[in-house]
Amino acid sequence: MSQTEGLNDWAYTKKCEKAVEGLKKNGFTAMFCQTGQEVFHYIVNEAAEAGSVGFGGSLSIADLKLADKLKGMGKEILNHGVPDLTPEERLAITRRQLTCDLFLTGSNAVILSGALVNIDGNGNRAAAMFFGPKKVIVVVGRNKLVDGSVEDAVHRIKSFASPPNAKRLNLATPCTTTGFCCDCDSPQRICRVTTIIEKKPRNTDIRVLVVNEDMGL
Ligand code: SF4
Repeated sequence: MSQTEGLNDWAYTKKCEKAVEGLKKNGFTAMFCQTGQEVFHYIVNEAAEAGSVGFGGSLSIADLKLADKLKGMGKEILNHGVPDLTPEERLAITRRQLTCDLFLTGSNAVILSGALVNIDGNGNRAAAMFFGPKKVIVVVGRNKLVDGSVEDAVHRIKSFASPPNAKRLNLATPCTTTGFCCDCDSPQRICRVTTIIEKKPRNTDIRVLVVNEDMGL
């Protein structure tokens, strides 16, 4: 590891630790993970009792390549992102995700004082994060941490998450051409629902894993 990498790692470790502290203060079960590998093993372990596992369409989760492992453990996988689904099938899966045993997702941003901020097109992922599934595991790469306010978190999402996500989904929005958000009125606008989970919702077991690696957008 070069000196620059070492110092970056130290600075990110401090940031991750502060986020974990903030999340715990707000009632979440939160932990620091050094690597995605640690996250993989944690999720496999937590999935032991789950019959169904919902995937929220997050790149942070997709990159962990958990689906095959969990399928091999006999879990029902509810993933609306698999190819060749009809729109009706996709909708049915997103509805079932709302009552699955374990829901896996990322978060577009987490502010260091311990709140989760997300922007969705349909709202299914954001909704499943705070009510419905028996257990929710949120994987948060260090690139998602915001040392600031909810407004700063929204700014981060509109700058670094929504435009590339719109591009990934091949949407005809201005940001997929320019790379910048212009608060569009496009029929394909991806930014329609903004949620702030300020404290752990009473009836949902939410685990937030803060990872000292860049993960997702
Ligand atoms: S509001 Fe429109 S332009 Fe801005 S990021 Fe969302 S989809 Fe792109």
